[in-house]
Amino acid sequence: MSRILIIGAGGVGRVVTYKCAQHPDVFSSILLASRTVEKCDQIASDAMRDTGHSDITTARVDAEHVSELVALIRSFNPELVIHVALPYQDLTIMEACLETGVNYLDTANYEPKDEAKFEYSWQWALHDRFKEKGLFALLGCGFDPGVTGVFTAYAAKHHFDEMHYLDIVDCNGGDHGKAFATNFNPEINIREITQKGRFYENGKWVETQPFEISKVLTYPRIGPRKSYLLYHEELESLTKNFPTIKRGRFWMTFGDEYLTHLRVIQNIGMAGIEPVEFKGQEIIPLEFLKAVLPDPGSLGENYEGETSIGCRIRGIKDGREKTYYIWNNCQHQAAYNETKAQGVSYTTGVPAMIGAMLMLKGIWKDAGVFNVEQFDPDPFMERLNKYGLQWNEEVDGNLEV
Ligand code: NDP
Repeated sequence: MSRILIIGAGGVGRVVTYKCAQHPDVFSSILLASRTVEKCDQIASDAMRDTGHSDITTARVDAEHVSELVALIRSFNPELVIHVALPYQDLTIMEACLETGVNYLDTANYEPKDEAKFEYSWQWALHDRFKEKGLFALLGCGFDPGVTGVFTAYAAKHHFDEMHYLDIVDCNGGDHGKAFATNFNPEINIREITQKGRFYENGKWVETQPFEISKVLTYPRIGPRKSYLLYHEELESLTKNFPTIKRGRFWMTFGDEYLTHLRVIQNIGMAGIEPVEFKGQEIIPLEFLKAVLPDPGSLGENYEGETSIGCRIRGIKDGREKTYYIWNNCQHQAAYNETKAQGVSYTTGVPAMIGAMLMLKGIWKDAGVFNVEQFDPDPFMERLNKYGLQWNEEVDGNLEV
């Protein structure tokens, strides 16, 4: 029986609230807080109606202000804060957790607002302070990062003596019927995919131009899709935590129509993060673009098809070379029917709930700042199958990478 505070009432916040509400024995009292309290109210009333949970309350908070967060945390007194607002708020929320003595979980690493740069250094730097206070911070507990780290830890534990090549493959084979929309926060998404690509090879990072390297990969139940090499944050922690990895790469599929829109958006300056003057006011083009693009939370109703995300790994077991592919496919419609959110929010929110459950039950336990792959993957893997994200595996198949 635990009290939790969920911060962020977007698509992911909706799924986390629903999934936690399905387990009142663990998450007995839930406070959902965000910048726009009306969004929290809507999610809370939907979740209570659909799950029967009777104790979900709401509050308004600006998570960029430590003092506001501290006051809210003190007034509710949770055991854990699940942060699913935006990566810009990671450090203020961690700071408030340190000040109030509360554990912390998030799904995306810190990004400064004025620079599209995401890395773990800022959050890892808080390790000693969390450790000294006996507090536990779990970073990147969504799907990618999150489940991809758990999959890699599971492969290391059960399938390899040494992993050498890791390719994370992420395909959204869904169709929402809109000309252009992003599947999660447009601002964060566009910042992520328009920056330079990067992969890890023989102890070094190799930089590429955005979308420079591509390959057609075949995804289960979806088929062949053009996949582009991107930098993704879990590569940083996985290559550190599994030092036998010689090469680590991340691939994501994009359709031609999506890339054409993206190119135009960039060419006309709408992906910019520098302020521009407009009618006597400073605006940031990318923030303005977010305001006119479809809300990712609204895509669910007519979304067809499924996502497929997994890890393709080559290494050594008992002296011989082995390949291993582990993946999950998630249907947008099934996610929507359960939570009124689309598959990308669902695949992020379910792992956040599972991580929170393992922390609250003391199954994953430590003091300091950690990534998911540093813990025993088995209890997480069991719960993925039970709580909506079934996984599949193939040994010694053709990895294509
Ligand atoms: P949304 O944009 O739909 O939701 C973000 C929510 O955070 C909104 O409710 C927003 O409020 C709120 N928010 C923004 N700024 C503040 C603030 N200063 N104080 C309080 N609340 C604030 O995003 P998603 O739900 O799609 O994504 C949520 C998080 O999940 C992101 O960090 C994203 O990077 C991460 N993510 C992780 C994935 C993974 O696999 N690891 C995959 C997908 C997403 P308002 O409604 O007022 O705008």
